[in-house]
This record gives sequence, structure tokens and C-alpha cells, in this order.
Amino acid sequence: MSTRRPLIAGNWKMNNLSDETSTLAGSIAARMRRLDNPSFDILVCPPFTSLGRAAKAANGTALCVGGQNCHNTPSGAHTGDISAAMLVDMGCTYVILGHSERRTDHAETDASVHAKTLAAWEAGLIAIVCVGETETQRDANQTLDVIKTQVTGSVPDGATAANTVIAYEPVWAIGTGRTASPEEAQEVHGFIRAQLKERFATEADGMRILYGGSMKPGNAKELMALEDVDGGLIGGAALVADDFWAIAQAS
Ligand code: PEP
Repeated sequence: MSTRRPLIAGNWKMNNLSDETSTLAGSIAARMRRLDNPSFDILVCPPFTSLGRAAKAANGTALCVGGQNCHNTPSGAHTGDISAAMLVDMGCTYVILGHSERRTDHAETDASVHAKTLAAWEAGLIAIVCVGETETQRDANQTLDVIKTQVTGSVPDGATAANTVIAYEPVWAIGTGRTASPEEAQEVHGFIRAQLKERFATEADGMRILYGGSMKPGNAKELMALEDVDGGLIGGAALVADDFWAIAQAS
């Protein structure tokens, strides 16, 4: 672990109705309230419909709230979409962009993630840009090429440690119970750091790179101890307050 402040981010995906949101976010918020001086940042990203409840639960605590996607324009004729400014209006400070499920389910591309990242910055949000290879790509030894293409294409010029977080999420590890080994994770995280350094020079030293993919209390400490792993983007384990909190404690 470096001097970068860890970020523990929960991606709730399409889970939790209003009352469940109040209970889960409220439980995390209450634990944050009891900490004098937390050594990590912590974030929950519920579905759009629960953002208000989550923001209410987090109010007055260091718990942050984020969206799981946004449109690349500020307003207009885009039925069913949500703008970055709308997320801010709901109390968000972060947005997850380019998650592999969105790349697969909604045909998001590096170019669309790039455009959404610019929109997120414009609204004042911190963008969590997700990248990651499929199992087929890993088996074909294409992992670093894929990551390079995704980072280059998805992260716009102008990225800083303050406005951007990268999440490395090997697709084969998401929701599968399989986790990248520490060696596999550090290899890709170190590679991403090197890519960022080429473009953003010393600014890259402060940019956080999260690991995502079946992170849980039992493996979080080992992963987050790695030199270039600066926290986690957590799916399944973020739906259980005790597990999510245990991961935060491991950072
Ligand atoms: C995710 O969807 O971002 C994720 C990492 O999920 P899980 O932790 O369930 O693998």
C-alpha cells in the first residue's frame, strides 16, 4: 500500500429497494460516524432510484454516494438516461463509468466511456473508469494489450488524481468467486500506473487504482497491501454491511 488514500467503493448494481437502501447505507454511515479519523474514503453506488435514500443516510458523515452510469450530455432528448448534473443534484460525488456489465449489456465502448468521463468532470464528479480483460483475452495473453487500449481510449486528457479513479476489474473475476492472484493483480495495476505516468507524469503517482472482482473480507487485505492497489470496487460483498465494513477495515 502506498501513501495514496484508499477508496472502498460499493457497486450495488441493480439491487436494493428504498428501505433496504436506508438500512444498508445507514449501517455504513453509522460506523463512519463512530470513526474519529478514517484512514480511507468510502463510497456506495446504489441504483438511480435509491440515490436519494442513500444520500439521506450518508448526510453528515464521510460516506460518499455515487452513480453507476451517466449520459455524456448535460440534458436533452435521451429517454431513460440520467445526466451527471442529475447525479450531483442527488448528492453524488462519484460515478462508475464503463463497468464491464455496461460494456456488455449496453454496448459501451472506450469512446463512449471517454465522453461520459468528460461529462462527469464537467459536472464536478469523480469518475471511476473501469477496465478489464475477459477470460478469453487473458488465456490468449492479450491482457496488457486490452488494458492499454481501454485505458488509452477511456481516460481523457485532463485526468488528475482528484477527478479520476481507475478500477481494474478482470471480467472473469466479477461475481464469479474467482479473484486475481496478488501477482496477477499487481502486474496489471503496475502496468496501468506506467500507462498513466506516460501521459500524466507525476500526477499518476497520486491516482488511485482500485481492484474489483470477488473482493471479500478474506482476500481484501492481501490485495490492498499490493503496491499499486489503492482500494477496491466491490459488488456482492458490498451488499452485506459487515462484509463491506470488514473490507474497509482491511485497507
Ligand atoms: C463489480 O461488479 O464491480 C464487482 C467487482 O463485483 P463482485 O465483487 O461481485 O465480483
